[in-house]
Amino acid sequence: MLELKNIKRHYKTGDFVQQALKGINLSFRKNEFVAILGPSGSGKTTLLNIIGGLDRYSSGDLIINGKSTKKFSNIEWDAYRNNCIGFIFQSYNLIGHISILQNVEMGMTLSGISASKRRKKALAVLEKVGLKNHAHKKPNQLSGGQMQRVAIARALANDPDIILADEPTGALDTKTSIQIMDLIKEIAKDKLVIMVTHNPDLAKTYANRIVEFKDGELISDSNPVENEKTTKKFSIKKTSMSFLTALKLSFNNIKTKKGRTIITSLASSIGIIGIALILALSNGFKIQIDKFEKDTLSQMPIIISPQVVISDEKTQSEIMDTLMSNENAYTDKKEIYPLISVQDLVHNNKISLDYTNYIEQIDSNLIGGIAYNRSTNMNLLYKNNDKISLISSLNIMSPLPEDLHGNWGDVINDNFELIYGHMSTEANELVLLVDTKNRVNSEILKLLGYNQEKAIPFDEILGKEFKVILNNELYTKYGDNFIMNMNYDQLYDNENNITLKITGIIRGKQGSKFAELSGSGFCYKEALMDLIMEKNSNSDIVKAQTDADYNVLTKAKFDLTTSEGIDAKNTILTYLGATSAPMVIQIYPKDFNSKDELTKVLDAYNDGKQESDKIIYTDYAETITSLSGNIMDAITVVLIAFSAISLIVSSIMIGIIMYISVLERTKEIGILRALGARKKDITRVFNAETFIIGLFSGLLGIGIALILCIPANAIIENLTQLPNVAQLNPVHAIVLISISLILTLIGGYIPAKLASKKNPVEALRTE
Ligand code: ADP
Ligand code: MG
Repeated sequence: MLELKNIKRHYKTGDFVQQALKGINLSFRKNEFVAILGPSGSGKTTLLNIIGGLDRYSSGDLIINGKSTKKFSNIEWDAYRNNCIGFIFQSYNLIGHISILQNVEMGMTLSGISASKRRKKALAVLEKVGLKNHAHKKPNQLSGGQMQRVAIARALANDPDIILADEPTGALDTKTSIQIMDLIKEIAKDKLVIMVTHNPDLAKTYANRIVEFKDGELISDSNPVENEKTTKKFSIKKTSMSFLTALKLSFNNIKTKKGRTIITSLASSIGIIGIALILALSNGFKIQIDKFEKDTLSQMPIIISPQVVISDEKTQSEIMDTLMSNENAYTDKKEIYPLISVQDLVHNNKISLDYTNYIEQIDSNLIGGIAYNRSTNMNLLYKNNDKISLISSLNIMSPLPEDLHGNWGDVINDNFELIYGHMSTEANELVLLVDTKNRVNSEILKLLGYNQEKAIPFDEILGKEFKVILNNELYTKYGDNFIMNMNYDQLYDNENNITLKITGIIRGKQGSKFAELSGSGFCYKEALMDLIMEKNSNSDIVKAQTDADYNVLTKAKFDLTTSEGIDAKNTILTYLGATSAPMVIQIYPKDFNSKDELTKVLDAYNDGKQESDKIIYTDYAETITSLSGNIMDAITVVLIAFSAISLIVSSIMIGIIMYISVLERTKEIGILRALGARKKDITRVFNAETFIIGLFSGLLGIGIALILCIPANAIIENLTQLPNVAQLNPVHAIVLISISLILTLIGGYIPAKLASKKNPVEALRTE
């Protein structure tokens, strides 16, 4: 059944060629016990390795059941070793970190036999060698003789046709040797057993055929094969190790070096910890910033003011250059360049009625409120204990934002609470805005006749009235000029007056930035301004001032050839109520999300307009948001880059550790190969090990990061009062574990490949 035809094997070491086998012709019967005798170095082990498919012959042919092995593929050799051959070595060659039972099962595991069948079979052979009770021990808990029995059990487990034993008793005492030989003799009953020994007595006692070797040549054969028919067809089942087996094997191996594994994982998890913490923090801060933006920044209006400074990055950096005297400031060029001044950057917004109309038509779902600030004066008469005084509305009153329907909508409801009376609904109704301690600006109170630091009851304020005197009553034409009517008693009772009533007292809600910024004073509705404007814009004084090139009240002349002169005239016209175009418009977006939409609509106004006619708004919330967002992003990127370096370093470290592990496990690689493991399976074993370490260090990293979040949050809360800032996004955690896995697999890839390329014969030779 087994036939060697002119087998030669030589080894090359440098220029020296060692002929280990010099053309061996030898046949074996299906069932016999052959002892190979010969001095050390005569080629016995080489022959056995070639028969066992562990080593390759240089020339000749090995014929198995009538089939030449010249064209055998690696996979066929692996399968042959696994199914047809059982090896017994002098040094037992058991895998130290798995149990006796698992050692015996290994060959069957490699050929994919089910776990229960494997176990049954393994226990049966262990019983046969008398070690059933030791099945769960580790190899180093057994004596030499016992270990050799395990090796015999392992060789028998997969029911091979051929048992190859290389000096199986070489390391045993005489008594144990005899026991082992008895065992081998017994199993030889129905198998081909080829045993190498240099003990002629043992050979004579047990073998039924003795073959002698010397210097790589066959010198005698006690019972040569004459002519044996080969009957059995050659077919062998292929082997393959499942990834689960590889995992189990590696897991057991890792268990034997817990300390090192933990330190390795810890070291390689540092990168993960770093990145996880940074992500948790930046994620948490982003959430806080988002919340802050929604809470606070959405209360910030979009402001359209008469002048805005516009500057792009280029001009900004030019300005910075000018401010910071720097080495490279001097140029060698012989040319003159313009220096950009702030004036060049100022854009004048011509806020016209056209523009206010455009705003009034914006979708009311986008706007929470609008306030028009005007420098138009309302002439107010105020009576205090029969003493009447004239007050300019500009000193005591301001508008609050209203929605597009002229109501005090969401902006007011969100930011203010009514603490007394009722909110004004009519044009002639006012509310008084007080601060958190019910205080009102003392200048305003002084105008109302309150000088002492005396508390004023709510009811007393609510009873107060103002009379709005229209331009035509207050200003009387006198020659080319106008003079103010000083007879307040008469004016006070004029039937054209509008009587303003104070109906309620409001106060900012807690946490409202808008309310904090609003100060105190009386608040009127846009409807009041509209009502007065309607009358005053057609008043005599306005008409006269429109045509005049001097101030009709003071007779001061305007130099209308200069922009200052034009501005001065416009200021007095606006004061008198000539135009209802506001000076400043504040637009409050309905909510954070509608702001983008709103700014798009405002941008659209400028489409196709000349540069000078464009209206450029200022979005303070946007500036703050993008600033904070950008800074966060930049810091995050930089910190992650640093941690990424430690991640790469740790994956290199994994590579080194895996390399050491490969060196340590060389023997195991040899054993596995002898049992029929493919190169692929060896790669798998090591990939499984890196997989475990990668997964473990990833999990460890995330775990430690989560734990570190607790003190980090405590510190942050202490410093900023923000609770639970560091929050690790679960998606980030999963991604980081995957990255750790991938990096360690990459780090371990080269060592794993290296392991699979190891020559099994050499691997077995290592100690
Ligand atoms: P035996 O088992 O009979 O003691 P071996 O088969 O181990 O002898 O070795 C036969 C000869 O081949 C010896 O001279 C040995 O030095 C040589 N040899 C074996 N393996 C190698 C190798 N990998 N490289 C070089 N020479 C080797
Ligand atoms: Mg030998």
